[in-house]
Amino acid sequence: MSTDRAVEAFRAAHGRDPEGVFSAPGRVNLIGEHTDHNEGHVLPFAVDRRTYVAAARRDDDRVAVRSDDPGTEPVELAVADLASATGWSAYPVGTLWALGVGQGWDLVVHGEVPLGAGLSSSAALESAVALAVAELTGRDLDRVALAEAGRRAENEVVGAPVGIMDQAASLLCREGSALLLDCRSMATEDVALGFEEAGLAVLVIDSRVRHDLADGGYADRRAGCVAAAEALGVPALRDATLPAVENLPEGAPKKRARHVVTEQARVHEVVGLVRAGRPEEVGPVLSASHASLRDDYEVSVPEVDAIVDAAVGAGALGARIMGGGFGGSVIALVPSTRVGPVSEACRGLRPEPTVREVAPSAGARRDA
Ligand code: ADP
Ligand code: MG
Repeated sequence: MSTDRAVEAFRAAHGRDPEGVFSAPGRVNLIGEHTDHNEGHVLPFAVDRRTYVAAARRDDDRVAVRSDDPGTEPVELAVADLASATGWSAYPVGTLWALGVGQGWDLVVHGEVPLGAGLSSSAALESAVALAVAELTGRDLDRVALAEAGRRAENEVVGAPVGIMDQAASLLCREGSALLLDCRSMATEDVALGFEEAGLAVLVIDSRVRHDLADGGYADRRAGCVAAAEALGVPALRDATLPAVENLPEGAPKKRARHVVTEQARVHEVVGLVRAGRPEEVGPVLSASHASLRDDYEVSVPEVDAIVDAAVGAGALGARIMGGGFGGSVIALVPSTRVGPVSEACRGLRPEPTVREVAPSAGARRDA
């Protein structure tokens, strides 16, 4: 069992038992792409792949972290140096830094979330560490505060300009449900999906493509959103209306804004559909999101479009590019009976994508 593996790895490394084992899941974002930095809504759910952290406090002021991921080396450093952690250790050590820990820790990681595959292994790792620290030290921090610690670790120690969706999903989601997250107020609502009951499966199809323009392209899209909000005289595009956007002069800001405003509406449409017991109708909304991300936000690439087309052609009810864009993964809603053919169709593409089925699962928890 996964918990036992974390305990055994901890014993082998440190010759004693951990004080506890904590796990946190990866996530997908069902819908609400590029709405987060416009203060809108997102609808992620936690997936059935988790990162386990066996943890114990130390008597000295040293922090030791190790992972069974083959691409990593153990790292040890003083509490005073947490902010200077680099490489993989920046994620767990940065989380300790963000929580302001003042004592030593031993952390041993057993990961089951694939790295860099669109499932946010980074947030899973940060969230498991944050929960471990809060629970073992009895600190009274709510889960939003823990999510914020993970985000700060990633922003300030890792140096990645991510939002808070991934950590919030990993810490706050419930089994079978997605999390409707208002990125302005941080208000959350559980949204029961009913996919399994309706005979529906979700596939995440990793294109294994990442174009060089990803970082610059992302900054450029954000700038377009800011320009559109300014032109419209609203604090953020979340406050814009479609008729107002349609009145903007032709150009990139108008297209970016049209994506954000219609995507924001699609998030609420999906919530309405699953709450009305019509989850299969979510499929076409995903495909509409893809068209908007491709044509208005302009973050898709031919390899990803080919995956969406192959999935829908083989029976997916809908599919869209997920994440920042310029490569990355596709999320597809598929009747359970069509999972085989859809997977097969995707695997026929070159470069060959990796297909994974995911199910909405519980957020971070103590396992031992
Ligand atoms: P993802 O989409 O999976 O979050 P990122 O590039 O944001 O991709 O984060 C992946 C990085 O997080 C890895 O390269 C590694 O540094 C770190 N990481 C995630 N999970 C683990 C793990 N189980 N063990 C060690 N490092 C991990
Ligand atoms: Mg990540």
